[in-house]
Amino acid sequence: MAAILLDVDGVLHVSGHLIPGAVDAVADLRDAGHRLRFVTNSTTMSRAQLGERLRSLGFAVGDDELQTTGSVAARALKGKRVLALTMPGLIDDLEGVELAGMNVDAVLIGGADEDGEETGRIFNYLNLNRAFLELDGGAELYCLHKTRWWQTAEGPRLDAGAFVAGLEYATGVEATVLGKPSPAYFGAALEAIDADAEFAWMIGDDLEGDIAGAQRHGVKTILVRTGKFRPDDFESSTIVPDGIVSSIAQVPDWLEANL
Ligand SMILES: [Mg+2]
Repeated sequence: MAAILLDVDGVLHVSGHLIPGAVDAVADLRDAGHRLRFVTNSTTMSRAQLGERLRSLGFAVGDDELQTTGSVAARALKGKRVLALTMPGLIDDLEGVELAGMNVDAVLIGGADEDGEETGRIFNYLNLNRAFLELDGGAELYCLHKTRWWQTAEGPRLDAGAFVAGLEYATGVEATVLGKPSPAYFGAALEAIDADAEFAWMIGDDLEGDIAGAQRHGVKTILVRTGKFRPDDFESSTIVPDGIVSSIAQVPDWLEANL
């Protein structure tokens, strides 16, 4: 039996639209005796909200099976004063982190969009300049991920990586990436299910974050042709997954044939 790390966005659903066969595929993987861990770079929800959403889509999944960037950030930033430009939902997961607007130890960049308006966490000039000044004054830079774009039901959207790169460019400070593809993120996921990398598989739709990240950690990979998968990106990439399937629905059979 294997340990299986499953990406969520683009693998199980896209913007809340189920990938056909995903619910049965997850159930089949469990029935086959594999240990599962859901590993997401999603920045829009707390772990509890994400668990609720997956259950509402029909997945039998507990909150404690989900690894989110927020929970990893809480571990990394515990006890620090942090300027957090993240979505409101994620704040719930930042237990033990002191949120502040000035004189901080660290700046944390997550996904922030119009939804952040009411909490003042929107990516606007004022906030990005505030982050810049803190970094210029010596604060450390952390980001939940450095993804360039993400796939929604309406099409691709600019992601937080562009803002992280902009702050790095302006300050010369390099960001510590907390989510995929950071080795620490994969390490934490494997540790949570007591798995060795060599017996683990990552299922994802993101060539860099999921596939290359897992490979650097010694984890085998299956790329799905859903979510942000683009044939042209795949053809022109030097990243080669161990398997490629049309969707999560094919993963149980693929593993049975290839394990
Ligand atoms: Mg994905």
